This record gives sequence, structure tokens and C-alpha cells, in this order.
Amino acid sequence: MRISRITVWQKSLPLVEPYRLSGGRLAFESLDSTFVRIDTDEGLAGWGEGCPWGHSYLPAFGAGARFAIALLAPTLAGQDPGDIDRLNRLMDRTLPGHGYAKSPIDIALWDIAGQRAGQPLHQLLGGAEGDAVPASSSISTGTPEEMIALIEAARTEGCRTHSAKIGGSDPPADIARIEAIEAEKLPGEHVTYDVNRAWTPALAVEVMNTVGAHGWFEQPCETLDQCARVRKLTIQPIMLDECLLTFQDHLDAWRNGACEGVKVKPNRLGGLSRARQIRDFGIAVGWRMHVEDTGGTVVADTAALHLALSTPEEHRLGSWLCQPHLEDDRGPGAGGRGGGGGLRLRDGPGLVLGWGLRQPHLEDDPAPGAGARSDGGDIRLPDVPGLGVAPDEEWLGEPWAVFE
Ligand code: MG
Repeated sequence: MRISRITVWQKSLPLVEPYRLSGGRLAFESLDSTFVRIDTDEGLAGWGEGCPWGHSYLPAFGAGARFAIALLAPTLAGQDPGDIDRLNRLMDRTLPGHGYAKSPIDIALWDIAGQRAGQPLHQLLGGAEGDAVPASSSISTGTPEEMIALIEAARTEGCRTHSAKIGGSDPPADIARIEAIEAEKLPGEHVTYDVNRAWTPALAVEVMNTVGAHGWFEQPCETLDQCARVRKLTIQPIMLDECLLTFQDHLDAWRNGACEGVKVKPNRLGGLSRARQIRDFGIAVGWRMHVEDTGGTVVADTAALHLALSTPEEHRLGSWLCQPHLEDDRGPGAGGRGGGGGLRLRDGPGLVLGWGLRQPHLEDDPAPGAGARSDGGDIRLPDVPGLGVAPDEEWLGEPWAVFE
């Protein structure tokens, strides 16, 4: 089997509500997503999506992904799509780094591999651990009252794990947010306080050692060394995210005792292949992990969730889905601001996602077990070969580029 064509689409994904993090210094209203379809000479096609969370969250941006893919596509032409590791090495020789651009290609190769094997991706990635992954919410920075209202909305959709975005230069404001959320927390709920690298080490130690809560604090400072320094001066467990881009970064985090857990995101790491390496390393060293992507539609979410489902439950915390934050990712006829249309399941009905910041559209209620979406807080995956979801090409519109 040979790769015969690579087609690339660009799609803007407006958010239902503006989103703020890192104490409000980073704000987002729309995401720039790249979809990749890899066709083969034997008729199989694989899909991938790469969608950085804006261009200020990580060293990644949408237009960069597409131009990097334009550079990489000719090197992949005529190759066997089953040689996933070899093709990743080939891409690395052609263009070192830029994992966010390689991620949709790598995911599309995995989709083809799953279809060839007749197995869903979670089976190829290690096998399902349980039958669902718990859904985790993502709570934009705001006043304590605003954040509690968002947590309550997520709670009604079954989320029991929440990532509350805090951070800034005003310690009393962050302490007030944390204390207010902790006071409203229900038994069995977990809240991670995600600082998104906003604090200096001194500020981090001040806040983390003042609050009564004992729980996860995520990416308190900019660098790995700063976070490791903070970890030595507090009893609070730390989760790392933005400062981990390569395997070496994860090795350094482990050696420095910088964290007890990490976020595992294919788009940040370079695709499912690299994310699987990190996931397996995390299991070996005893980390706990949130496996999810940086953003995007159900295509990106589903790829990450296959990896999440195949992660042992003792190492797996909840997974966040981007879908509920998007105007567009709803069923046909819903008429989202970005053009409506939505995404469809491969050989399935229109797709709608049920929890979060908007109401579900019951007329498009999807079939159980098809697509990665939350069912009352349990994210279930399609039990069909490959990724199990493909975007509607009418919704995608004209391709950005076709390589053949
Ligand atoms: Mg984070």
C-alpha cells in the first residue's frame, strides 16, 4: 500500500464564548484548525486534525502547520503508510521539531493502520482500560462567581473533574478564586488549578502554601526548572503541560522531581506516536495523566481519547473535550456561526455533543458508541476500525492544498 494523495484543509473554529487563561493575559475567540486526509492507492483514506489553542498558548500556530505540511508532503508521497515510526523519522530529518504540524499527519497514518488491521485505534494503542474515560471540564478565568457558575454548568453534564484557569500578578485574587471554588466543591470532585505559566516562583510558593486546598496545581511557572524549584518548596502536587514538548523534556521533569503528573496532548508532542511514547514513560515512572488534545473538533478529540482509553485507570485522570467550546461542532442544520454543517461520523448520523456551554440538539442525537463524546460525563469511543470519525468534506469546503 502506498500514499497516493495528501489533502489539506483550513477551518476557522469560532468559540462559543471568549476564553481566557493565564490570569486573563491570554484570550481566545477562534481556533485555526488544519485537517489532513491521506489517500492510498488501495482506496483506504485516513484523517487527522491539528488545532493549536490559538498562537499564544504554545510555540505552535495554524498557518505554520499548513506550510510545514506543504514541505513534508512530497517526502511522504509513495511511502507505505504502515511504516509510521519510519515516516516520523523521515519527517524529522526533513523538518526537525514542529510537532504540531506533524500531528495531523501521524494521526491520519494511525487511522489507516487501524482500518488495515480492522481494529479501533485504542486497541492498537494498548487495549481499552474500562469502557469510558471520565470527562473533565475547562473553566475560563473570571471572578470566583463566574468560575463557579461554569463549574456548575459542567457538573450538570456529568463532569466531576475540572481544570480551573487561574494565575496573574495578584495573589489575593487567586487565593480568593481557589478558596471560593474549594468551598463549593462536591464530594468526589477534583479541581486542578491551571496557572498556565503566569506565576513567578516566589508568587507560586506564596499562593500554593497559603490556600487550604491540597490538590493539583498545573504549570505554575514558565520553565521546567522554575516549576521544579517550586515543587521543592510546597507540598502541593504539580502537573506539567506547556514546558514539556519533547521526550527529553519529560525525562528532565522526572529526574528533577518536578511533577507528579503531566498533560499528554498529541498536538503538543507531535502526534499519537510521540504521545504514546510519553504515555508509556508516564506509566513506567508512576505519573498520573490527563490525555487530551490542545483543541479542535471531534476528529482531534477522538484521536486523543483513543490513547486515553488505552491508558491504565490508575494513571489516567479525566479528559477534556474541545467540542463543547466550538460553535461549529454540532449536527447538520444547527447553523453555527462559522457556517453550520457540523461533522459526521463515518457511516453514521450527524454528530452533536452534549455537555458544556451550549444546549444539545436532540434532533441529532447520535448513536451510542459512535464518536468520542461525553455521555453524562463518560466519554465513549467508536468500536469500528481506525479513528472512527471523519469530517464532512462539504463542511470543510475547498481544500487549502492537494499533494499528489
Ligand atoms: Mg494546562
